[in-house]
Amino acid sequence: MILLLGGTAEARELAVLLQESGVRFVSSLAGRVARPRLPVGAVQIGGFGGVSGLEAYLLEQRVDAVVDATHPFAEGMTRNAIAACSTLGLPMLRLERPGWAEPEGADWHWVDDHDAAASTAAELGERPFLTVGRQSLGRFVEPLADHQALVRVVDAPEAPVPATWTILLSRGPYPVESERALFAEHEVDVVVTKDSGGTYTQAKLQVAAEAGAAVVIVRRSAPVAGFPVVDSAVAAAVWVSGIVGPR
Ligand code: NAP
Repeated sequence: MILLLGGTAEARELAVLLQESGVRFVSSLAGRVARPRLPVGAVQIGGFGGVSGLEAYLLEQRVDAVVDATHPFAEGMTRNAIAACSTLGLPMLRLERPGWAEPEGADWHWVDDHDAAASTAAELGERPFLTVGRQSLGRFVEPLADHQALVRVVDAPEAPVPATWTILLSRGPYPVESERALFAEHEVDVVVTKDSGGTYTQAKLQVAAEAGAAVVIVRRSAPVAGFPVVDSAVAAAVWVSGIVGPR
C-alpha cells in the first residue's frame, strides 16, 4: 500500500497513474479548504496527529512506501513524513514541481519569508495583489493596512482584514486573459506570491511583466537531503512501480 500525501495537481495526476496501474494507494489531504478537489481512488482527509500519529498510521495500514507530493510550502508535512519514514525504515519519495523562472523584462524581488514579502511589497507599490494563501495573510495586515490590496483566496480569511482590502474568493487555474482583466480593473502595481511553481497560477507572472508590475516572490526552503526527489507524476509512478513490482 502506498500513502500519497497530496493537496496538489501533481498528486492528483499521480493518483490517476497509480489507479491505472492497479497499485493499492490512499491519497491524504489536510482538509484545509472547504471543498477540496478530490483525487481518484481512496482518500483520507485530516492530519495524522504529528510524527507519532503518522507512524501509527503507517504501521496500522501496512504502508509500503510514502510519496510526499504536498505543496512546496507545506514544509511541516514533509518534515513529519521524513521523520516517520526514517524511523520506520520506509522508502519515501518527494514529488515536487520545479519553481518558477523569471521571464525576460520582469521585475522580481526574491525574499526569504512572508514578513519580508510584506515590507517589500509595501515599499514597491500602492495596489498590491496578494496571492499567498489564507494562512499567511495575517503577516500582511499591518504592513499593508493602508494599501489598496487585492487578496485572492480559496476560502474567506478567518481574521478581519483592513477595510481598504478587496477579497476575491476563487480557485485556479487562471488563464492569461482573465488575469489581464483583473490587473487592469484593480490597477495592480505589485504581485506577492510564493515560488509555488506549476501552471495553474503562473499567468499572473506573465501579466505582471506585461503590465510593468513588480513581483515579490517568497523563495522555497533548501531541499532536505537523504531521499529521492522527482519533478513529475510520471517519474513518481515509475518509482512506485519499482517498489510494488509489476501489476
Ligand atoms: P503544513 O503546514 O506542512 O502541515 C501542517 C499539518 O497539516 C501537518 O503537520 C499535518 O497535520 C497536516 N497536513 C498537511 N498536509 C497534509 C496531507 N496532505 N495529509 C494529511 N495531513 C496533512 O501544510 P500546509 O502548508 O497547511 O498545507 C496543507 C495542505 O494543503 C497540504 O496537503 C498541501 O499540499 C496543500 N497546499 C498547501 C499550499 C501552501 O501554500 N502551503 C498550497 C496549496 C496546497 P498532522 O501533524 O496532524 O499530521
